[in-house]
Amino acid sequence: ADTVDTEALHAWIREFARLIAEHKDLLTELDSAIGDADHGINLHRGMSAVVEVLEKESPGRPAELLKRTGMTLVSTVGGASGPLYGTAFLRMSAIAGDAETLDGADIAKILRAALDGVVARGKAQAGDKTMYDALAPAVESIEESIADGQPLGEALDNAVRAAEQGRAATVAMVARKGRASYLGERSAGHQDPGATSVTLLVAAAARALA
Ligand code: ADP
Ligand code: MG
Ligand code: MG
Repeated sequence: ADTVDTEALHAWIREFARLIAEHKDLLTELDSAIGDADHGINLHRGMSAVVEVLEKESPGRPAELLKRTGMTLVSTVGGASGPLYGTAFLRMSAIAGDAETLDGADIAKILRAALDGVVARGKAQAGDKTMYDALAPAVESIEESIADGQPLGEALDNAVRAAEQGRAATVAMVARKGRASYLGERSAGHQDPGATSVTLLVAAAARALA
């Protein structure tokens, strides 16, 4: 549907948690090549906690659910990705305001706010080999699709393809942010773990919100 309520957002979060669990070993493997081998473990711990918290509290409005998600990620995920994902969800919450439902344009806006939060936190730019390199093309894509009048489902499907292309492009990049940057040129030739997990976030949205 083109109207997203709290229950649909809850389904998005659950689907993201499921995809993280399914890809935990892959994410950790990718992080072992250019980091410290904990990205899958970090996000799995965080998203398991989020699922539990939301199950217990069943938040009323979209902003509440997004806020609880962000706060739980900040407090349970160690490392760089906790504050980055946490800030992304807290920024989405701020944009959701007191709305009961969100439409396609609102979804584009909250995803833009998530990206702005990642940048505010981590100062990543295009080509730094981070989650930015998959999330930014996804956000640009959904903004264009919605501006073109496409339904949310199609807009999210396009955004997944954009994220996947951005994720693939991180392989060739030399890391300039985060742990992988310590490797310098040796970070090239490996797919970025955060770009991989954030593509799962967009894929989960395409499955749950449309
Ligand atoms: P840590 O590196 O602390 O162990 P994780 O392994 O959980 O944290 O997360 C690593 C991912 O975080 C990287 O693959 C990258 O995508 C992302 N990341 C790291 N630093 C930044 C940053 N400054 N801006 C955006 N993303 C970043
Ligand atoms: Mg790590
Ligand atoms: Mg770590």
